[in-house]
Amino acid sequence: MCIRDSSKTPEELRESLRIARISRNARVAFVPTMGALHEGHLALVREGRKLVGDDGTVVASIFVNPTQFGPNEDFARYPRDLDGDQTKLASAGCDLLFAPEARVMYPEGERTRVRVDGLTSGLCGPFRPGHFEGVATVVAKLFSIVGEAYAIFGKKDYQQLAVLRRLATDLFFPVNVVGHPIVREKGGLAMSSRNAYLSPEERERALALSRGLRAAYAAFSGGERRAGTLVDLVQKEVEAAADTIDYVAATDADSLVAFDPEASVGDRALLAIACRVGKTRLLDNVVLGEDPMTSLSGSHS
Ligand code: AMP
Repeated sequence: MCIRDSSKTPEELRESLRIARISRNARVAFVPTMGALHEGHLALVREGRKLVGDDGTVVASIFVNPTQFGPNEDFARYPRDLDGDQTKLASAGCDLLFAPEARVMYPEGERTRVRVDGLTSGLCGPFRPGHFEGVATVVAKLFSIVGEAYAIFGKKDYQQLAVLRRLATDLFFPVNVVGHPIVREKGGLAMSSRNAYLSPEERERALALSRGLRAAYAAFSGGERRAGTLVDLVQKEVEAAADTIDYVAATDADSLVAFDPEASVGDRALLAIACRVGKTRLLDNVVLGEDPMTSLSGSHS
């Protein structure tokens, strides 16, 4: 099996989508990625297929976006496997691939950046200056090329999802942003292209993230609402396993504003972690009061 068409320029993709919208049903699902694909990405592709139907069009992009990496981050060594990714996309039922070069997405003389305020000031924002501006900029370009579509993003990057929902609304993109549950390995580790960096020993330690979230989830289910207590339950597990912790935070699930430790989180709240195991930066989260307990185990995908 192979994907029907692979484009390298905005013009090529627009033309492929124009034809697809006439010859098939008009619905399009779009899955932006940085490649090095795993089951988490493929679940987004399958979700896209469900949304557009058998005769709709599912398009994925693979682009390791330089503007969302800081100077000391892993842009140069980020895993890349375009051939392997094409095979995986085809077997997940993807129709079109957009895999542009950096000089196509950022043509000579480009001067435009997109910034989403507020939602980017907490959580990963302070630890990755410029990151969300890079993400918002490239996704705005991609939305502009793809046009009317569902765009499916993973809840693993919960803050990114919130930022991109806001972006689509504020800039009137004809895009319906859809969040997909986190896909996990059997032990509960959230799948990530960066997991490839982990040694077997680090991979074992990385299980502490989902274990901490499960402990807090159980306490929340038992009636615990104090933000500081829920955070401490996660922190205890993560501290024992991580090399450095950027944050363990309880925030409002929509505004992403952090709760004071003494505050009650109410009936719905985000619990989010960013930390390093070895040199690898890992993210995980759960929405208390919304996500099912099974979302924290590796049993579903
Ligand atoms: P990336 O290639 O890491 O930029 O991710 C591309 C898309 O896949 C983003 O919307 C991510 O949130 C999503 N994604 C990555 N890992 C997972 C996962 N384990 N479960 C669900 N979605 C994921």
